[in-house]
Amino acid sequence: MKALVYHSPGKRALENMPKPDIKLPTDAIVRITKTTICGTDLHILKGDVPTVTDGRILGHESVGIIEQVGSSVSNFSVGDHVLISCISSCGRCANCKKGMYSHCENGGGWILGVKIDGTQAEYARIPFADNSLYPIPAGADEEAFVMLSDILPTGFECGVLNGQVKPGDTVAIIGAGPIGLATLLTAQFYSPAEVIMVDNDDNRLEIAKKFGATQVIHNDLGNAAEKIMALTANRGVDVAIEAVGIPASFDIC
Ligand SMILES: [Zn+2]
Ligand SMILES: [Zn+2]
Repeated sequence: MKALVYHSPGKRALENMPKPDIKLPTDAIVRITKTTICGTDLHILKGDVPTVTDGRILGHESVGIIEQVGSSVSNFSVGDHVLISCISSCGRCANCKKGMYSHCENGGGWILGVKIDGTQAEYARIPFADNSLYPIPAGADEEAFVMLSDILPTGFECGVLNGQVKPGDTVAIIGAGPIGLATLLTAQFYSPAEVIMVDNDDNRLEIAKKFGATQVIHNDLGNAAEKIMALTANRGVDVAIEAVGIPASFDIC
């Protein structure tokens, strides 16, 4: 099968790799039909994630069709159309029972495309299939569902919920990539008065306006913070959300 393989910082290639097999009875093999590139993959490619070693297939966000199930998988069968969570989790340990799946004590967590081969491939082995896959309803839009693997819930949980966006707030989102746009969409559940988007790409800022941003700032000169202060009569914002993951965007926040 074809897969995107990481070798070393800056070096990756689309290569022929062996098709994965069931290793544990809780595994499923999924034929990938849609996948994405995450900002996290870009961090890996830069060499920022030392857990990822030479030969690893990248990717942790996908949808697909189940091709094979291990003997103890009971919630899914061959042929099921499924969403793959970016986090694999046993669902049984103390942390999983508290809903802290990324801290699974039985070897789950963020492992796909990091500690085990990921989903930027024609097939992927998904561990703890019963708790790490979700059924896709018949007729649903796959392209919308693949955004639920990681991007939309990450923008909502890490940005909007942790930022405690409230009605009437002024919110600044630094970065109008997929995570920033997901944050922009879900911030509107809480009726903020203003959402200011900052990016250095005009195309992304145009999309942000369509998605509900009330103000956009092009940050070419690195003066976004001053522009935000000017827009808010020097009061600043109630919530600043960092949606890039580099020092410059943290500095603006
Ligand atoms: Zn991701
Ligand atoms: Zn667990």
